Amino acid sequence: MENMFNYLNPIAQLGKPKRSFLFAFFTNIILCVVSEFYVYLVGKNPLAVGNYIIFINAAFIVYFSFRDGMLGGFTTVCLTILYYFYIIYTRHYQGNLLNSGIDTTISLAFVYSFLAFSIGYLKQLIDKLIEKEANARIRLETILDQLPVGVIVSNTMGKIEFVNNYTQKLFGKYVKVGNAIEKNAENTMHHNGIRASRNESPSVQVLATGKSAKPQDFVFTHANGEKLYINSYASPVKNRAGQIIAIASISHDITSLKKEEQKKNDFINMTSHELKTPLTSIKVFTQVLEKKLKNKQDTESFHLASRINTQLNKLTMLVGDLLDVTRLEKGKLIVIKEKFLVKGLAEEVIHDLQPISTQRLILKWTTKLPVYGDKERIRQVLTNLVTNAIKYSPEDKEIIIGSREHDNFLEIYVQDFGIGIASTEKKKIFERFYQVGENSTYPGLGLGLYISAQIIKRHKGKLWVESEYGKGSAFWFSLPIYRMKKARNHLSKPIHPAVRHARIRKSSSKKSKGLMLTVPAKR
Ligand code: ADP
Repeated sequence: MENMFNYLNPIAQLGKPKRSFLFAFFTNIILCVVSEFYVYLVGKNPLAVGNYIIFINAAFIVYFSFRDGMLGGFTTVCLTILYYFYIIYTRHYQGNLLNSGIDTTISLAFVYSFLAFSIGYLKQLIDKLIEKEANARIRLETILDQLPVGVIVSNTMGKIEFVNNYTQKLFGKYVKVGNAIEKNAENTMHHNGIRASRNESPSVQVLATGKSAKPQDFVFTHANGEKLYINSYASPVKNRAGQIIAIASISHDITSLKKEEQKKNDFINMTSHELKTPLTSIKVFTQVLEKKLKNKQDTESFHLASRINTQLNKLTMLVGDLLDVTRLEKGKLIVIKEKFLVKGLAEEVIHDLQPISTQRLILKWTTKLPVYGDKERIRQVLTNLVTNAIKYSPEDKEIIIGSREHDNFLEIYVQDFGIGIASTEKKKIFERFYQVGENSTYPGLGLGLYISAQIIKRHKGKLWVESEYGKGSAFWFSLPIYRMKKARNHLSKPIHPAVRHARIRKSSSKKSKGLMLTVPAKR
């Protein structure tokens, strides 16, 4: 029944291959026969029902022109006109009646032809447009099916309209055309052992906000225990008027990349651990040697031993940085927080670094507020920033270390008047292993700022740079100011290094849950 309705429905025929004109032909023949019967049965003169017949025929011409294009329209016109002549000549009209009958038929032939032509042409035009659109769609879908990334397109109501082959390969049967994207996110995450919530799905975020969602990594665990790492992001698709018409989400399989990264991290971790032990022994021996040479008053050898010691310190720092990176990757960088004054720490850092620096290190401290953080990690950040300021500025310039209070944060800066940083590099310098320029003339691994930024992030602060190329840089970081609270009063005592080490050991043995283990100091 539905098929029959579709067959007769002219709109349903839009864009379909042209129908045979035979349908129009036979339908019109039937119409002629029916009207002949009607005339015969009612016994009226055909002229009496002529007006009705003209309208009915006009409606048929419109219908067939729209259904079958010009071919259907003109078949109807020809049969209708033939039928009119048949009526005129079989009813033996004479004189004026005959003439007016012929005139009317000829005029109607023109009107009907115009109708059949214009509607038939419009229908063929619409057919072409629909076909063009369908071809463009097929072309696009074929291209998307060949891509080595998963593509899901949903409409603005969140219903999936297209899924490419690669998506099926990644997520299997859980992603289907016609599903709601929320349901889809829930299904894929649930069935693939992922612990994320459906609201974390980039498509669901775009549906809720109308804005692009940032790339996110997801780990799926298949039933066989195999892990699949997916990087997914989504963005709204807009029309020329800027209205959202669809949501497109892209998923990359980054499993092999992650595995390679894991191998690299394991290698870095292993080598830095291997280096650490002999390095510590060499350092102890060098210090003993330094002492002995000093006692013997062998100035020249003592001087050489001191230089070995300075280089060893640098090497120790590099190895320390490599170890920190792997700790960060594994979420095992431990932060033990306590209340302390950064000013004292800044003074200590200046005291340690001034002897190896030709620049004058100046303290311009204007605040007296304590912060709540890991003193040793903050020392590491300050040392790194001051070392960089020394490394990247000329010998005769000064370096200023200062502070200010802003909202509930203490903001600390290290300002130099050195080479500065181009604005295009300002974000990149906080990335892992990034150094400005291809063959950096300055020693380093490009890890210091990355580690510092991560440490500050773990303190809920920020690390940023203000710099002008060729004029110098100011590196800023913020730390939450310590506010007196009953619950925290017990934390105000400084932590003894031995206690600190014991806590680090204890924390390291615990299985890390998040990216970073934050251990609040205890009494
Ligand atoms: P590196 O070990 O190379 O110093 P960092 O992570 O500390 O690694 O710094 C990354 C890059 O940022 C450096 O290679 C350098 O190009 C740039 N940089 C860092 N500090 C400064 C500074 N004070 N002035 C100019 N450039 C700097």
